[in-house]
Amino acid sequence: MSVVEISGLHKSFGSLQVLRGIDLTVERGDVVCIIGPSGSGKSTLLRCVNLLEQPDSGKVVVDGTELTDPDVNIDKARRRLGMVFQGFNLFNHLNVLDNLTIAQRKVLGRNRDEAERIARQNLEKVGLAGRERSLPSQLSGGQQQRAAIARALSMDPQVMLFDEPTSALDPELVGDVLGVMRTLAGEGMTMLVVTHEMQFAREVADTVLFMDGGVVVEQGPPAQVIGAPTQERTRTFLARVL
Ligand code: ADP
Ligand code: MG
Repeated sequence: MSVVEISGLHKSFGSLQVLRGIDLTVERGDVVCIIGPSGSGKSTLLRCVNLLEQPDSGKVVVDGTELTDPDVNIDKARRRLGMVFQGFNLFNHLNVLDNLTIAQRKVLGRNRDEAERIARQNLEKVGLAGRERSLPSQLSGGQQQRAAIARALSMDPQVMLFDEPTSALDPELVGDVLGVMRTLAGEGMTMLVVTHEMQFAREVADTVLFMDGGVVVEQGPPAQVIGAPTQERTRTFLARVL
């Protein structure tokens, strides 16, 4: 059953056409890795999926609800999506536990005990048990990013969106974050991941999407798109990053 359906998605900023007709279906439990050169529209695509950007045309359906329907309560519909960005986006004045509980309490209406229980489960999952009282500034970049993942998970998303979650990390911290993402994928989380980590994409993705110039140039299993690309643009890109 598909959990994300994107069709005919267009987005421009002024005269710049950034997305020029994107179609994508994501089955429940699938991991889709989106690769492509800088400026190709990858972040804009993710941001259109949770309507952080309003598409100019086209449809985004998540878990049966059309987010692009003007009558849909977008704040409510967006809760099905967890998002993790390149920067860590934790609240710097709040400790880790409070970072994980605040939206659960304010948005989902959970009481403190329940929110803390769920937060602790997710901290355990990302390898941060025992860091509840730490401030973000007392954590490494990799730990902060894992806390951000735990925070998103605490909202019970149907789909997780990752936009280059390891790009801002020192190389030695990348592995732990990718490890957490691998675990999530193994547990059956549906994930859309913009990444330059080709090894991760090869091993974890069900589908790889190569974008260039606001279109999907090539998509398929990693063995095909990364291993044996049919399009010249894909080959040129891979030759630069591999
Ligand atoms: P990618 O993530 O693949 O690097 P982006 O989706 O971030 O690409 O950006 C695609 C193009 O859209 C770039 O040329 C970028 O400068 C432009 N762009 C992105 N967001 C905005 C915005 N809010 N306003 C104007 N231009 C934007
Ligand atoms: Mg980007």
